Amino acid sequence: MIPSLQQANLNGKTVLVRVDYNVPIDENGVITDDKRIRETLPTLEYLLSQNTKIVLMAHYGRPKGTKNLKYSLRFVAEYLPTLVKASVQFIDDCIGEEVQKTIQSAELGTIFLLENVRFYQKEEINDNEFSKQLAANGDVFVNDAFGAAHRAHSSTTGIAAFFPTEKYAGLLMEKELRILKSVTEQPQKPFVAIIGGSKISGKIDVIENLMNVCDTIIIGGGMMFTFLRTFGHSTGTSLVEEDKIELAKELINKAKEKGIQLLLPFDVRTSPEFSNAFEPNVVDCCEIPENQMGLDIGPKSEQQFSEAISNAGTILWNGPMGVFEFSNYEHGTKAIASAIVTATSKGAISVIGGGDSAAAIHQFGMEKGVTHVSTGGGATLEYLEGKTLPGVNALLLSN
Ligand code: AMP
Repeated sequence: MIPSLQQANLNGKTVLVRVDYNVPIDENGVITDDKRIRETLPTLEYLLSQNTKIVLMAHYGRPKGTKNLKYSLRFVAEYLPTLVKASVQFIDDCIGEEVQKTIQSAELGTIFLLENVRFYQKEEINDNEFSKQLAANGDVFVNDAFGAAHRAHSSTTGIAAFFPTEKYAGLLMEKELRILKSVTEQPQKPFVAIIGGSKISGKIDVIENLMNVCDTIIIGGGMMFTFLRTFGHSTGTSLVEEDKIELAKELINKAKEKGIQLLLPFDVRTSPEFSNAFEPNVVDCCEIPENQMGLDIGPKSEQQFSEAISNAGTILWNGPMGVFEFSNYEHGTKAIASAIVTATSKGAISVIGGGDSAAAIHQFGMEKGVTHVSTGGGATLEYLEGKTLPGVNALLLSN
């Protein structure tokens, strides 16, 4: 059992909170989507109301164990005061006596953000000594970084051992786990899963696992071509994983055996090359020209998929239907997002499984129309594969 943060006696304590502030920025360093920061506000506000000092700990990018200031978290410390009413101080390291002294000398109600934990190579190998040094920064440990919960690193996993009775899930972590659990264990029926993205290889276990609870699985994105090849269709120069065609066949058969409707596209939008330079060419899936690649689903597929979505009680979406980053090939992904929003307005529960689908729904400005957009891409996928998340496991009380 993971104890609830709201049951903890936190008065006067220094609370060390692991957050996921790995937010996207543009070429000028401006945050383009602050969702991951905003979603931690309930935890921060709760902790402030409990008369605590807050020490935030996070990673940013992949500095590969070196102090590369390109990956400094200072910009997040400068951004946080626009969202939360408290004094926010940045500390340019995450371990050591100086860090501890600075924290100790501050008043209750102060928020600190430590420098990128990945500046230390020991973070990603879950080094015990490094975990201990991080743990020395607080009296209580809270993990609110759902987006990093699939990583067994010092700041997400190893650290928890130094707080045998004072470790908690943050309010965002609790929310993410509650929603994923309810969707996968007690879905409102029919349950429609929409799976897209580039390759089938990254989503095999997700598709297999969802077959235990879903009624319909919709396949789009680059992976659809590996499925289409099982019918002997030519797929032109589209993305195909030759070594996964047999597996796609097995998944189709498995769905049949289990009585699950597996929907594949009827038509696609193609281009002569992987770029946004050409107007899309709409063709049926069995007629993709040799010199063309499919970069999006076509209008007939949009309609068929939207119909299935409109009847759903629960919708889970992971992976775009096409190369939504190209304006000429975003149509299918947008149509599906729109169908999800309409179904949600009629009472369906819709969960967007993080990563690129979350980026797409943000790009289309449709976030408010769905039930939940997860802050975790990889973590959501691993949860949906039925795996245990190390960052969550580490919070369990051993008794
Ligand atoms: P994933 O990380 O596996 O969810 O894949 C997301 C990526 O898949 C996005 O960046 C899309 O641009 C890409 N994608 C979607 N459809 C296609 C396609 N038909 N061909 C190539 N890439 C695609």
